[in-house]
Amino acid sequence: KNYTKESILKSAKEFDVRYVRLQFSDMLGTVKNVEIPITNLERALNNDIMFDGSSIQGFVRIDEADMYLYPDLSTWLILNWENAPVGRVARLICDVYTSSKKPYEGDPRYVLKKALNEMKSLGFDKFNVGVEPEFFLFKLDEKGKITRELSDQGGYFDLAPMDGSEDIRRDIVLEMQKLGFEMEVSHHEVAFGQHEINFHFDNALEACDNIQTFKVLVKNVARRHGYHATFMPKPIKGINGSGMHSNLSLSKDGRNVFFDEKTDNQLSETALKFIAGIMKNAQAFTLVCNPIINSYKRLVPGYEAPVYIAWSDSNRSTMIRIPASRGNATRIEVRSVDASANPYLAMAVLLNSGLDGIKNDLTALNPLKKNLFRMSEQERRRLGIKNLPENLKEAIEFFQKSELMKETLGEELFEKFIEAKQKEWDEYKTIISEWELNKYLPII
Ligand code: GLN
Ligand code: MG
Ligand code: MG
Ligand code: MG
Repeated sequence: KNYTKESILKSAKEFDVRYVRLQFSDMLGTVKNVEIPITNLERALNNDIMFDGSSIQGFVRIDEADMYLYPDLSTWLILNWENAPVGRVARLICDVYTSSKKPYEGDPRYVLKKALNEMKSLGFDKFNVGVEPEFFLFKLDEKGKITRELSDQGGYFDLAPMDGSEDIRRDIVLEMQKLGFEMEVSHHEVAFGQHEINFHFDNALEACDNIQTFKVLVKNVARRHGYHATFMPKPIKGINGSGMHSNLSLSKDGRNVFFDEKTDNQLSETALKFIAGIMKNAQAFTLVCNPIINSYKRLVPGYEAPVYIAWSDSNRSTMIRIPASRGNATRIEVRSVDASANPYLAMAVLLNSGLDGIKNDLTALNPLKKNLFRMSEQERRRLGIKNLPENLKEAIEFFQKSELMKETLGEELFEKFIEAKQKEWDEYKTIISEWELNKYLPII
């Protein structure tokens, strides 16, 4: 995708593109866009489109609100799920620049680029990210409102007629392919109405752009079929929630540096240090990778989601698992992440955590062979296994104490992130739930 200004203008003409969305993400990962008519495309490509950043969550204050959008030319994409009355709609993902034309430090894409530069300075050239987003499909009623009815009664890897949503899933995959996604697998997940779609891994920045595109696409295609797609981590009590397992590796000169054929488990020293860094910083980065109140309803025992900070080369009860493939596919799978995270920030904190392990020569504890959920608390404590934060409040506290998190996000975004999350917690704190009423009203 080596687009130039000229080839984009040409492509726009050839495919009768009439509108272009200039896209970026706010602090919480919501995709935002400014739509321009095609007549303004050239101006946009000259980095000359301004917008008012003051009402964007996590962006600048009123007094310095004017910001520029610098399109990343490689992200030119004609969107096929849009039904424009005339012509077509395309998008460009943009970097956010300040009014004095400097990269804006609160732009999540910038935060990731900064982490990637840190990686390069340590001699690696790629941070490969492959994600496994899971989501639920809820039926929409005649008025287009979301109901609590799930799309089907299927389970893990089921086929029709148990899996009543395979047409929707297939449609999503087809649309993704039309957009140039390289597809891996798609399947029904464990819970009723729950699905997973995997696309090919990529360098972190491209992978995050893809995640953002993927989420918008899934929601649009599902709606066309009369369903609402949600990446909410735990929409239903008592059944599995939705994660976004993140498969990570570093490479250099096209070679995966997590692989070493000479060691027992064929993991390199570098991989082990990276794991150690992830584990060391797990409590701190959880706020970014699991950023909403609801995230913590998923991280409980019994639903294939991690609760304790450990790694294993086989069993799935740990937060980090090493999938069996080796060679260039050697990777670590971080299973705690969920799709409510801002992917740019999530990958930035994961990368810097891993690099922390490499820079400081941390040693990983031995991989865990046992199922963690069958261990007593005492046994876990004896092995030095820590818990992930139990709720948003605890996650804020760990995050707030971490210099690495502050460095990664930059001081301004770090403070704003804490502020937004504290506000969310304060709001939640005042809620009187059905559970409380049912439990206490009759007896107290
Ligand atoms: N849904 C589970 C989670 O919350 C994962 C299940 C799986 O992929 N096997 O992480
Ligand atoms: Mg999977
Ligand atoms: Mg899964
Ligand atoms: Mg997985």
